[in-house]
Amino acid sequence: MEIRAAVTSSKGEDFHIETIQLDEPKRGEVLIRIVACGICHTDMVARDQEYPVPLPAVLGHEGAGVVEKVGEGVSYVQPGDHVVLGYAYCGKCRSCLSGHPFVCERFFELNFCGIMEDGTKRHHRLEQELSNFFGQSSFATYAIANERNVFKVDKDVDLALLGPLGCGIQTGAGAVLNRLKPEAGSSIAVFGAGAVGLSAIMAANAIGCGIIVAVDVHDHRLELAKELGATHVVNAIKVNPVEEIKNITGGGVNYAAETAGRPGILRQAVDSLTFFGKVVQIGAPPLGTDEKIDTNDLLLFNKTITGVVEGDSIQRIFIPQLINLYKQGRFPFDKLVKFYKFEDINQAVKDSHTGKTIKPIIKME
Ligand SMILES: [Zn+2]
Ligand SMILES: [Zn+2]
Repeated sequence: MEIRAAVTSSKGEDFHIETIQLDEPKRGEVLIRIVACGICHTDMVARDQEYPVPLPAVLGHEGAGVVEKVGEGVSYVQPGDHVVLGYAYCGKCRSCLSGHPFVCERFFELNFCGIMEDGTKRHHRLEQELSNFFGQSSFATYAIANERNVFKVDKDVDLALLGPLGCGIQTGAGAVLNRLKPEAGSSIAVFGAGAVGLSAIMAANAIGCGIIVAVDVHDHRLELAKELGATHVVNAIKVNPVEEIKNITGGGVNYAAETAGRPGILRQAVDSLTFFGKVVQIGAPPLGTDEKIDTNDLLLFNKTITGVVEGDSIQRIFIPQLINLYKQGRFPFDKLVKFYKFEDINQAVKDSHTGKTIKPIIKME
């Protein structure tokens, strides 16, 4: 069928909206009419070829839409269902079987190598094949995904809002709710107040953390952090964040999340912890970053450092949980969002880059 898609043809270039061909869904696959798709930093990582996604490609991995048609053998969804699309995973490897599909042994292949599970592609432009991204390619009017990475959502919430739950929002919220699991009343510091960090802050607030310290270098982001539940904010350009956090908490925080992905920040996060403190690395620093951690401090204070991707999230369980919190007003992630028309996708990318918009979402119509 003919679809309109924002195509990435060469490294670093702007998106071009084109009419291309999309195949029918194969066995186990679902055709989805995309209503909206969030823009995430990882789309830019692929566009700029920091990850070598074969080009040309249709990027976009925070899609939300309505099931149009199901392939043979699909039982989880039917036409008309509202769905969010998530990352692709195989469902068969040791990681998937043990409940950790976000570290699927085929994660890189299925999300970044341009192919679907059977090794083939679904998008065509004349005789040329285009790469798939994250098993969905949602910068388009229609997408095909395996039913495994499609998640049914309630019809009484605005579907256009929900796509980022499948990546950026769950990454921050899940790191707190699924991995750190802070006790009510405990203290947490979140380094970086972008979409992922602010999601971590909302999650910490939803679960009842007593002290929530947001650390960033932009005052406007810290203001928003306060609105979303931060009890204290620290501008790391103006003061030493480690000293400030120790002052606020009387010795250090119980938990910390590093979402900035900048060298040196993990060290600050670890240094901010008190006894038995736990820090989670969420942001991706440049490849080859060599973080200098004080190992005696780790030992004597019994600290833990852990990494987490995609928020340690089993999406069929976790996405409905986030939507429930949103409905209760305890996870107001809509405050991060600005909607753009499909034609304005390049402007949305620019606004995200400059920090003007925290979470841009492209509406397809
Ligand atoms: Zn797997
Ligand atoms: Zn993402």
